Amino acid sequence: MKQQYKSYDQTVEFLKQCVENYPSLISIESIGKTWEDRDIMLAKVTLNVENADLKPAMLFTGTIHAREWIGNELAVSFIDYLLKNYNTNPKILQTITKNTLYIVPCLNPDGFEYSRTHFSFWRKNRRDNGDGTFGVDLNRNFSVGYSKSSNTSSNVYSGPKPFSEPETTAMKNFVDKHDNITIALDYHSQGNVFFPAHKFNHEAEINGTDLNTLCANMNYEISKVTGRRYGIHRGKPPTKLISGSGREYYYSKDIIAAVVEVGTRNIPDFMQNMKESINENIPALLYALGEAQNYSKIAPKRVERFRIESYTSQEVTLKWEYECKKDIYFEIYRNRQNKEACNSSNLIAQTNETSFTDIELTSGTAYYYYIRAVDNITGVKSAFAPKTKIKTRLEADEFSKTLFPTPSNVGYVAQKLIETNRKHFGNNSLFIGINETKGASYGMMQFDLNKIPSNAIIKDVRISLYPLNRVNAKIEKYGEWSISFIDDKTIADITDYDQVIKSKIIQTIGQTIPSEQLTQGIWSHWDFNECEKTILQKLLKREKVIFRISGPTKLPDGRDSQMMMFDLGYGKFGGGLHYRPSIDIKYTIPSQEIVLQASSICTVSKDNIDYETLSCGFDKNNDKIYGLMCFDLSTLPDPDKTVITDCYIEIKNKNTTKSRQDIRYNVEFVDIENIDYDNIQNRDRIEFIGYEVSRADLQKNKSHKFLFDNFSRLELEQMHKKDKNATFLIKPTSAIIKDHIINWYANDEKHNVKLVVKYIHKRKFPLQSVEDVKISVENSKVKLTWKNPDDEDFRGTYVVRNRFHKPKNHLDGDKIYAGSDNYSYDDFGNPKITKYYGLFTYDDIPNYSEPTIIKHQGEE
Ligand SMILES: [Zn+2]
Repeated sequence: MKQQYKSYDQTVEFLKQCVENYPSLISIESIGKTWEDRDIMLAKVTLNVENADLKPAMLFTGTIHAREWIGNELAVSFIDYLLKNYNTNPKILQTITKNTLYIVPCLNPDGFEYSRTHFSFWRKNRRDNGDGTFGVDLNRNFSVGYSKSSNTSSNVYSGPKPFSEPETTAMKNFVDKHDNITIALDYHSQGNVFFPAHKFNHEAEINGTDLNTLCANMNYEISKVTGRRYGIHRGKPPTKLISGSGREYYYSKDIIAAVVEVGTRNIPDFMQNMKESINENIPALLYALGEAQNYSKIAPKRVERFRIESYTSQEVTLKWEYECKKDIYFEIYRNRQNKEACNSSNLIAQTNETSFTDIELTSGTAYYYYIRAVDNITGVKSAFAPKTKIKTRLEADEFSKTLFPTPSNVGYVAQKLIETNRKHFGNNSLFIGINETKGASYGMMQFDLNKIPSNAIIKDVRISLYPLNRVNAKIEKYGEWSISFIDDKTIADITDYDQVIKSKIIQTIGQTIPSEQLTQGIWSHWDFNECEKTILQKLLKREKVIFRISGPTKLPDGRDSQMMMFDLGYGKFGGGLHYRPSIDIKYTIPSQEIVLQASSICTVSKDNIDYETLSCGFDKNNDKIYGLMCFDLSTLPDPDKTVITDCYIEIKNKNTTKSRQDIRYNVEFVDIENIDYDNIQNRDRIEFIGYEVSRADLQKNKSHKFLFDNFSRLELEQMHKKDKNATFLIKPTSAIIKDHIINWYANDEKHNVKLVVKYIHKRKFPLQSVEDVKISVENSKVKLTWKNPDDEDFRGTYVVRNRFHKPKNHLDGDKIYAGSDNYSYDDFGNPKITKYYGLFTYDDIPNYSEPTIIKHQGEE
């Protein structure tokens, strides 16, 4: 299979051939010489290549690591694709008209040839270290974060000093001289993952959204070809970050930079795997090249202070600022998940205003919003403003809970580790799949459901798992992963392998995930369908639910591992508690019913009020007669903890009329202080209740229900809260007919006028916000202290950090803490950076309070 890959010489020959065939599109140059005197070749590809350096550019580097042959192969294929198709594919033509590609197919020619001809898995260059060892890891030899090492035989030996190597020096010199470079992609293998650059601290960065979104949009193109979804992974605490890499050097020069790890092996079967990797990456590269101009000097400025202005259970209003809006409009994107594409597939608005209201959203649901400015004349777009995230409020009758398994209830069991399986629980990441040392392995998770009422009506459920770094745990293209409900009656001990494989599966949740769609660094979610919700609802009575996560259980010949790792949140490999598996459940509860009898009724006509009857119609002079019904709401439970879910008035008519005229009667919710005819005629109408009944209805049915709409229900809650009586009026609609009266049953025992109220107990209002927030720096960490409200419903305070604006929602930034303590440290934050912290109290529903905001003044 190695014969199918291009050698260094063949690559150089190919480039020369391209220049001969397409002289106006490509030029090549040597940007340096290696220790073994090979030229480090760089090609420039663009329309009218003599102008290459005048256009915004993307830099491609490949095979900096000798054994990672994808870089060189992909470079050759991409150049070939651009040159052969530019005059038939308008997208290519447009892209290379406005952007330049700088491409170094092989940055480590000596190592590459050594890997090709002598030692397949050689990684470094071929420097003679003078002590019998050879090679420097070029991707540790750049200056940013450079870490000196003396172990020359190490595979990651960083060299005697930064830029000690001709290859890294060549790159530095070229990049330093070309400030038109706006994007840099460094191609490696393996893992099928993007590693965007970072600044060695775990804080949001102004171009963090750009980095993730560039990768997500490339991912979108990749998945169109193969269905594969690469991971997008910036490294998270406490993961050790890579020192001295090219990516961070480019990023330090304000270039949007990422490493792309392609494939599942360094030197894979060319026909089976390498071709697939190349095919899926070419459209992604074309997309990225087209983005170069959007980060260049000709791009409009980034939108400022993109933030949430207000939100409800269904709507979110966004606001932002922009200095000069001439010839500018804004594109707004919305996603349900992090690190998803922002392109025409999720563009929800184009506007030249500086605010936008998104409507018809789902309650209690997280949304991600993105924005970029677009130059209406050139079509060039701005960088993204930092994304903003929000969870909509719950509907009036809804509750939600996020449940986590306790440490002893989450772990994996492996076929060949019978003795130690129990110790994995609460300690070791979830290894799911199969490898030679562990055998088949399954993940087990048990969630206690006792915090959810056993009669709850489940509305939405989502399971979330965080797949860990897959560079070590390679996943090839076979097998699938799934989560299933296990019948808890068929298993007594979830740490026992035999019991686990014999346990009965009730149902597998949603679709299984094929290997190529498993991603690392992006949360995996499973949303329950109706049938799965019903299963969970039944399990509420058993107060627990057990899930089994399964992967492939057989290895093909010559393969040693097909194993995915999901974070447990615990143990040394875990990313911390934020990364625990979780289950989010949104639910309501059955309502109770209370029937109120009218506390008073009366019939009001022009010159009489009769407190014994309830009638309406027209008198002899064509004047309207009104029926009034009054209800005392004081018997309803505590207004602050009562949500009316349904409500209706039921009344019954005693008589009907013979008139052929179309007479109808309706019920109004009114606000009347003193009952007299004039007041009634000039009444404040709150709302009509239900629909009018006709003469025919009165004949057909004796009993009539007038249903409250949402607004009237809320008004009734208001009346209750203000300790007022609720008054309703029944009257004919405007058709006039003389001397015509309908009598309604009033105080007859069997036929009372009734107000039927269905309600649930639920705290409706958030708690007080926290007070007395103080900020200090202790041991290089920001420390926050505060005073929690003194309230029996208090459950905790949620602390979120936002570097760019004051957080309006508890999800709007990086979560620092959630719990009942009155202090927290910002463990991974950088105290030198200025930022806002928002503190939100919450109850059991949960209702979140308005934030208390405090600004931390850093050193910038
Ligand atoms: Zn590499």
